[in-house]
Amino acid sequence: MNEIEQRLEELERLGLHRRLRMVSGPQGPRVLLDGRPVLLLCSNNYLGLADHPRVREAAADAAMRWGVGAGASRLVSGTMTIHRRLEERLAAWEGSEACLLFGSGYLANIGTIGAFAGTGDTVFSDELNHASIVDGCRCSRARVVVYRHCDPDDLDRLMRRHGGGSGRRLIVTDSVFSMDGDVAPLAEIVELAKAYGARTIVDEAHATGVLGPGGRGAVAQAGLQGEVDVVVGTLGKALGSYGAYVCADEELVRYLVNTARALIFSTAPPPPAIAGALAALELLQERPHRVQRLRCNARALRRALAAEGMPVEDAEMHIVPLIVGDEHAAMSLCEALLQRGVFAQAIRPPTVAPGTSRLRLAVMASHTAEELRDAAGAIGEAARELGLDLMGRESPAAEPQHLTGGREDMRGQSPVFAPAAVTTVPSAPIRVASTPFDGERDVIHRAA
Ligand code: PMP
Repeated sequence: MNEIEQRLEELERLGLHRRLRMVSGPQGPRVLLDGRPVLLLCSNNYLGLADHPRVREAAADAAMRWGVGAGASRLVSGTMTIHRRLEERLAAWEGSEACLLFGSGYLANIGTIGAFAGTGDTVFSDELNHASIVDGCRCSRARVVVYRHCDPDDLDRLMRRHGGGSGRRLIVTDSVFSMDGDVAPLAEIVELAKAYGARTIVDEAHATGVLGPGGRGAVAQAGLQGEVDVVVGTLGKALGSYGAYVCADEELVRYLVNTARALIFSTAPPPPAIAGALAALELLQERPHRVQRLRCNARALRRALAAEGMPVEDAEMHIVPLIVGDEHAAMSLCEALLQRGVFAQAIRPPTVAPGTSRLRLAVMASHTAEELRDAAGAIGEAARELGLDLMGRESPAAEPQHLTGGREDMRGQSPVFAPAAVTTVPSAPIRVASTPFDGERDVIHRAA
């Protein structure tokens, strides 16, 4: 057996093997999954715009007008009028001086972190940040200090300890955390950044189109527009398309154009995707009630789940984690739900910490309240049938990744894509995920 076969077998044994499921048709509330009709409850098409007729039409028109591919990097021949138009609209919408498109959110984080931190600098990063931030930290070659999830006191302590010296300091956080649906304490983070002379990058991937006035995001909701140095947003989630953007002041954007390798060395996003995002943004501005519908739907699902005895908060956040714990058990719940016509993909390590595998439910504005109530009923029934006791987010089972010691000072290994190896000061045991199949987030960033 060669090492690839061994690794695949190991992943199967650990309940960590992945396979691609086939969805027929667009990311609507109902899809054909591997040929079977199901309710789609795990797509980030939060506002239902990916399959909106106006968005589709805009993308189709753009393909006819500008072609499909952008031909080259933004800096070579790739910046087209449609790119600039969306940048201007996004900057105005975000209340920002300037905006810069990237090929994807992953590239935006890699490019931006790498531009603002390098050898001799320090990045302070929330322990549950998305994998693209983790990888951005690793690629940057900066020292990475991981603070406790959403804990400004821990960030303060670590900035006091590691914030000295001549290097630049950067704090980076998701605003809405992708696997938990909670919101970062942005006001405190901005305050700490000011106190310690650090820059801030806030990734609004799951907040754009969802939180804040008119869906402008968590930064706007917190009244912090203009206070965060760099806001990263994606076009691939609520805006129903593909690609990403960074909003910042004109000087920082000019700096990124000159230094962000993920921008400089990657082909510009395709014109149809950009035109689709532009149409989605227009729809969001014209009819912000979609955002309200998403929130109402989120509350309806949460209440129905609570009525089934599930430990979920009565809130309006559209990402609802149902923490099962064991990897195999999470997969069994996912399969049992599919039998009942509901698709909610199980999320397992390294996307989440070991022992916290879960179904991550994602509500869409295009679901009906009835569909969501029925789904909650199906989830309750499936969990009872399997004898599963779901855990709340604060459950002790989530603890291993949150233990103290050795977490606070970690340097991602370079070269960039080598298997994980993390050094710590002071030395302490580190949990290292050896899988090269990193999911949305990975645990290499977070030592036990
Ligand atoms: N940041 C966060 C918080 C995300 O959840 C994701 C994608 N799941 C990304 C960035 C990457 O965005 P993209 O899919 O556009 O690469």
